[in-house]
Amino acid sequence: MDKASVHAWLDTVPRPLRHHAQDYLTEDRLARRLRRGSTLYTAELRGYRDRYWPRATIEGGVWAVTCTCDRRPKLCAHAVALMLDLSRFSADYAEAPWKLVVQADRLIADWPFESPLTWHLIPVTTPFWRKPQAEDFLPTLVSLLQTAANLHLAEDPSLPIWAELHPSWLNHAAIQHLWTDWLRQYQSPRAQDAPLWVRLHWMQPVLKLTSVFLALDTSAAASAIFRQLWSPQPLIVPTPKRQRALLADLTLVHPELAALVWPFFRGTDPFALAQADALYLAGRQHEAIQRLEQDLPDDAAARKQVRLRLIEWLDLNDSVPHRLALAWESGSLTYAEPIHHLLSDAQWTRLTDALRLRHACEPSADDSE
Ligand SMILES: [Zn+2]
Repeated sequence: MDKASVHAWLDTVPRPLRHHAQDYLTEDRLARRLRRGSTLYTAELRGYRDRYWPRATIEGGVWAVTCTCDRRPKLCAHAVALMLDLSRFSADYAEAPWKLVVQADRLIADWPFESPLTWHLIPVTTPFWRKPQAEDFLPTLVSLLQTAANLHLAEDPSLPIWAELHPSWLNHAAIQHLWTDWLRQYQSPRAQDAPLWVRLHWMQPVLKLTSVFLALDTSAAASAIFRQLWSPQPLIVPTPKRQRALLADLTLVHPELAALVWPFFRGTDPFALAQADALYLAGRQHEAIQRLEQDLPDDAAARKQVRLRLIEWLDLNDSVPHRLALAWESGSLTYAEPIHHLLSDAQWTRLTDALRLRHACEPSADDSE
């Protein structure tokens, strides 16, 4: 963020208002700092009588600052306090997990639920591990996770930290290494910890937890996953990736229940690829193949993806129709090559001739302008 523009804005503020704003900061009355990218900043200001949510947006280098209090259109000290805070601690503003926009002077959160934005659930101070990766904090985080792991408490205190880690930390080799070590200790997770594991998986679907769910007591894991899928998460948007990860694990621990649940989340897995993969991994190859063949997508690219998965799973004889279809739809013989020996010479010649005829009349990418 361009701090110079914040200072320039502050220079236009009358001195008494600025002093008043400074008092708010000195008394620690600004909390729950949130931002959307580097263009929208907001926080909760605890006033002397009420709470306010000033917010600042920048467009084309110009700041627009408003507040929920009733001093509009006059500038209030709440808004100035936000800008003063931004001029110093812009790094403390956590990225909002949902879309946050200002429309017609109202702050709109792209909130997936009917309830209003639950400000009280946003932590007053954002722990550093919730913020993007910063080298300064790496040693602290590593030792924090290590200490937590060595405490051997009934409930591992590092579990919530893992769950809340900003995704950028997960790319770091040191953190990846810790994760592998940490997981190794959990060969026999306890049934009562199932909800915690599910929460971790929900928040960090990149972290592979398949082995944990398989080791857990089936009914505990299934009911924890099931609850998580159906309960709205106040701060964590239920993205398709999160839902697919949980549904895949539900398939592993309780395939019958999962078969009933997948249809409710069809939008997250439109071509049933994730569901089929989960069935395959659960040792239900036949059902996985059936699921994919049941409704082949109309979209050409998606259909190709599904057929490729099918020829990988089917034995050569059963893959013939899909190989021929792939060759026919793509114009490439590569997919039919492995079944060459299953066809007579005359059949092979007819196939190659047909392909040449079909694709000869299609304009190539080069002359389609
Ligand atoms: Zn105000």
